Amino acid sequence: MKRGELLYKGKAKSVYLSDKPGSLLMEFRDDITAFDGGKRDALESKGAYNCCVSSFFFKMLERGGIKTHCLGKINRNTLLVQSLEMIPIEVIVRNRAAGSVIKNFSFEEGQLFEPPIIVLDLKDDSRHDPMLNDDLIFALKLLTRSELEQIRGIALRINQILSEYLATCGIILVDFKMEFGRNRGELILGDELSMDSMRLWDAKTNQSMDKDVYRFNKGNVIATYKAVAQKITRDQCEG
Ligand code: C5P
Repeated sequence: MKRGELLYKGKAKSVYLSDKPGSLLMEFRDDITAFDGGKRDALESKGAYNCCVSSFFFKMLERGGIKTHCLGKINRNTLLVQSLEMIPIEVIVRNRAAGSVIKNFSFEEGQLFEPPIIVLDLKDDSRHDPMLNDDLIFALKLLTRSELEQIRGIALRINQILSEYLATCGIILVDFKMEFGRNRGELILGDELSMDSMRLWDAKTNQSMDKDVYRFNKGNVIATYKAVAQKITRDQCEG
C-alpha cells in the first residue's frame, strides 16, 4: 500500500491518499494534546496503542452490524479507511457524569445516566466546540431530521456494544466521542475509538485509564495506555 499526498493533519492523526480508489490512510501519531491544543507532547508508541484499540473496536462493531470506515490495519499506527464526507459534529455518549458535563451542570462526578445522555457538539476548535441542539443542527444544515434520528440510534447501539464488552474487561465506559460521515448518502462511523476519545475507569478503583491521565497529570500516560490497550484487546497490542 503506497502512501500518497497528505490531505489533512489534525492534532493527533494525519490522513493521506492511498493507492486504493475511495480509500485513505489514517495515521495515528504519537502527538497528544489537551485543552484545545493548550497542552501538547509526543509520547512514544501512543499512536500505535490508539490505532490498535480503534481497529479492535471497529471490527467488534462491524460484527455487531454497525457500518464503520475501517477497512483494515496496515501497520502499527495506520488504518486503511473508507473515504467519507465527514460531518463536523462530535457525537458524545455519556453513561456517567464526568468532564465538561460536571463543569457545566450540577451533576456529581460518576453519577449514572439512565438512559445515557447524547450530547452533540460542533467540531470547531476556533469556537471551542460549542454544544448544539436540534434547531441549530437544522439551521446550520449539518444533518437532516432523518440523519439525526439515525445517528442517535446508532450511537446508543455502539454504546451498548462497547459498554457490555468493556464491562467484561473490568472497565467502565464513562463517556466517549464519535464522528460520522456519509458515503453515498449512508451514515458511517469514522474517526477513532481510542483512549484519546473515551473516558474509561477501572471498575474496581474508578481510576482513569484514558487521556484524563494526561490532561490532569494523574500518572504515567504511556504505561496507562499500554495497560488498557492490552486489557481491551487481550494482549493483541504491541507498542
Ligand atoms: O470534555 P468532555 O467531557 O465533553 O468529553 C466527553 C468525551 O468526549 C471524553 O471521552 C473526551 O475524551 C471525548 N472528546 C473528544 N474530543 C473532543 C471532546 C471530547 O474525544 N474534542
